[in-house]
Amino acid sequence: MGLTEEGERLLLEGGRALGLDLRPHLPAFSLLYQLLMAANQRVNLTALRTEEEVVVKHFLDSLTLLQLPLWEGPLRVLDLGTGAGFPGLPLKIVRTELEVVLLDAVRKKVAFLEEAVQALGLRGAYPLWGRAEELAHRPEHREAYDRVVARAVAPLCALSELSLPFLRVGGRMVAQKGPRVAEELKPLPRALGLLGGTLEEVRPLRLPFLEEGRALVVLSKVAPTPKAYPRRPGVPEKKPLC
Ligand code: SAH
Repeated sequence: MGLTEEGERLLLEGGRALGLDLRPHLPAFSLLYQLLMAANQRVNLTALRTEEEVVVKHFLDSLTLLQLPLWEGPLRVLDLGTGAGFPGLPLKIVRTELEVVLLDAVRKKVAFLEEAVQALGLRGAYPLWGRAEELAHRPEHREAYDRVVARAVAPLCALSELSLPFLRVGGRMVAQKGPRVAEELKPLPRALGLLGGTLEEVRPLRLPFLEEGRALVVLSKVAPTPKAYPRRPGVPEKKPLC
């Protein structure tokens, strides 16, 4: 079963609050919801189970990225640690011209993404199974993206080491963070200096229907990342650069 009338209403109203007209995309979000719920009975893809939670905390939260003016044109976007496809799938549904690579280290999640991309008929969405620490050293992925997005993957110090190597110089990384982002930001310049990045912007925002604050942290790639980064799998999180 897809979204109920109430679920559709919530999505449309939330979309409007974010400045988006989601009417053309209702069928896609409804199908994604259906696929997610069906797959979640077989394998544990997401902890969010109610329709309201999925609509607000997966769909609308993902779409808060569109508050930033960074998504015009046929850009190459990497969603690092996408899980069941967030924020990458909602972004791709609304911005069809983007090329979106959906990366996750867990095979069953990537299997779901393949099923979802196929069922949704999304062209230019590519599920990718692997670890960022390894893929970032491959020539076809290194400094090959215009944007990297990530939600709920790692603290910013570790995340910057995982993500900046994928960006071409001039590209941007957007991390979706919660209300306590300030502590993560303090030591960040140290890591960014080593990786060729700078902090461009921290955009606070509110999610429709929720009290908790959110923030989008935008990093800019200003110089090539030295070949030593990212370090071996697990190291960026165990021994963060800041
Ligand atoms: N972004 C999704 C999932 C968050 S859970 C959401 O917000 O709903 C974090 C995900 O990141 C997990 O699925 C995990 O497998 C993936 N992940 C963590 N570290 C990773 C790495 N180094 N390379 C690839 N995927 C990673």
